[in-house]
Amino acid sequence: MMAAEEPPANNLPALDTLCAHWAEDPARFHGAVIPPIFQNSLFTFPDCETRDRLWAGRTQTGVEGADALFEYTRVSNPTTAIVEAKIAVLERGEQARCFSSGMAAISAAVLSCVRTGDHVIAPETVYGPTRVLLSEYLPRFHIETTYVDGRDPEDFVRALRPNTRLIYLESPSTGVFYQQDLQAVAALARSQGIATICDNSWASPCFQNPIPLGIDLVVHSATKYLGGHSDVIAGVVVGPASRMEDLSAREGCLLGAVLDPFAAWLLLRGVRTLSVRMERHQRNALQVATFLNAHPAIARVFYPGLPDAPQAALSARQLRGFSSFSVALRDPGQAAAYRFVNRLRYFGIGCSWGGFESLAMPMQ
Ligand SMILES: *Cc1c(COP(=O)(O)O)cnc(C)c1O
Repeated sequence: MMAAEEPPANNLPALDTLCAHWAEDPARFHGAVIPPIFQNSLFTFPDCETRDRLWAGRTQTGVEGADALFEYTRVSNPTTAIVEAKIAVLERGEQARCFSSGMAAISAAVLSCVRTGDHVIAPETVYGPTRVLLSEYLPRFHIETTYVDGRDPEDFVRALRPNTRLIYLESPSTGVFYQQDLQAVAALARSQGIATICDNSWASPCFQNPIPLGIDLVVHSATKYLGGHSDVIAGVVVGPASRMEDLSAREGCLLGAVLDPFAAWLLLRGVRTLSVRMERHQRNALQVATFLNAHPAIARVFYPGLPDAPQAALSARQLRGFSSFSVALRDPGQAAAYRFVNRLRYFGIGCSWGGFESLAMPMQ
């Protein structure tokens, strides 16, 4: 089993320390061990000259200290800025921008990379609503998407067109947890001037960092592991300042799907314990998946964490740990699936994942 607490590169503190302490500064808030929720829409200034001075020296996130410019919460907010700084460092990105849901983050990231007439490539096992965005919404702007299996980097080479502008990845992907070779696909995309986005919700920044592998933008449904308590809907995009400045100004501020400060505070509460939770998720999932893998009623366990998993060599290169999984029953009928799920004792029957509770859902 891989260590969730593997020390990060770049002389940064260990993962647990980043989760708990990065971007937190109690001295800014009377020593409060948890920062306040800045539940305000706007900020006022003592005089016009002060506003001019702060405006001239403004930074994107404003987390740097007392000199930060905060003017209007659709643009930036001190509570949200703390969690953005924390997630940015966890993902090894320069900047992060929170959104009001994972889909808002994904939509913003995709729209920041494409324009009328462009072509997108994505794995066919991508999260359902992301697929609807790509194949039902973007065609309004004459943007087409080609779906590929994606487990072989050559799949992306074969799907290239002169107008390909975005390769959208999700690794491991929804439901079946197929992986794409992030480093190989990122290198291909870079050589062609194509942007890459990777949905990293399943692995969380504890188990995978796509940015050091060459991916341009990482997106998360922060509703899942980052939040971790099933009490907040949130999303985040992470990337280099060169992309994030424009993304924050346009798809962030202009389209306006910002995260509410209270939701940002809940998300920050979740991220503080992320590494501890991921370790336990991994340990529990491996035990249950190993049991089911040997069970006569189970045809297949879809779990990259099993030692004989089909993409184990790729996992060793790009994943440091493993989260949730799915199973196929030997009896493929709906009745068997319902019976299996109905009889689970400690599992709620519910969609989503990443919270404290165990969940299961029958899927077709
Ligand atoms: C849930 C999910 C999303 C969407 O996130 P929301 O916060 O529900 O908008 C995106 N990608 C993946 C892989 C998900 O599981």
